[in-house]
Amino acid sequence: MAVQRTFSIIKPDATKRNLTGKIIAKFEDAGLRVVASKRIQMSQAQAEGFYAVHKERPFFGELVEFMISEPVVVQVLEGEDAIAKNREVMGATNPADAAEGTIRKDFALSIGENSVHGSDAPETAAEEIKYFSSDDELVG
Ligand code: ATP
Ligand code: MG
Repeated sequence: MAVQRTFSIIKPDATKRNLTGKIIAKFEDAGLRVVASKRIQMSQAQAEGFYAVHKERPFFGELVEFMISEPVVVQVLEGEDAIAKNREVMGATNPADAAEGTIRKDFALSIGENSVHGSDAPETAAEEIKYFSSDDELVG
């Protein structure tokens, strides 16, 4: 597998509980490198655009409200097979189904407040990285 980049968000439930460092440590321990990182307050328009794929789902409004409720940390992670590796470190969407040692098993509060986002494919990774980062922010 080639070296890839993937997009990650440390979500409001985690930033609020001061878990940013513990979550980044799990990425780094898995061999992922943080090549871009910033703490931002997402706007409603940004959150709606980012999650547009889910706009018909019943939880869309709740999801957008949650994502703008506190700051988030948006990051680009790089490594061998980074997209799948990040999803593995994150664990299942619902923390009740997440494997031992994963971020969501250890930190998530619920299926909605689940501490992290990670891209699910090369195309979405490229789009999501562009959505939040300019080229000069990808510093390696
Ligand atoms: P993410 O896209 O955030 O990495 P995911 O790919 O594991 O998570 P998706 O199915 O893409 O999950 O859902 C996007 C996000 O929407 C979830 O991470 C979660 O915060 C929220 N969500 C998903 N399903 C539900 C639900 N049934 N109730 C409330 N919120 C949900
Ligand atoms: Mg998803």
